Amino acid sequence: MKCPFCKNPKIFHQGFRYNSTGKKQKYQCVKCKRWFVKKDGFERMRHSKKIISRAIHMHNDGLSLFQVQNHLWQHDGVKVTRKTISDWTKRYSIFLK
Ligand SMILES: [Zn+2]
Repeated sequence: MKCPFCKNPKIFHQGFRYNSTGKKQKYQCVKCKRWFVKKDGFERMRHSKKIISRAIHMHNDGLSLFQVQNHLWQHDGVKVTRKTISDWTKRYSIFLK
């Protein structure tokens, strides 16, 4: 693991930070002294965990991919493809049980 700012491979391990998506390990770079957290699966997504979990729940409740897509656009202003929603339901539904 490297510092995301200066790419220095030497980093301190500095405990945990808590936020809406849960517990994260927090690190400080030895060289540039900046703080960062290790990315988890949801952070790699372009959309928030809230949006993803809502989409998955709506789909599990019987809404079609088209209806879920439409809802996210109308209610959240989030534009995603039906393929993306379909990928979410396959990839993340096990985390949301
Ligand atoms: Zn650094």
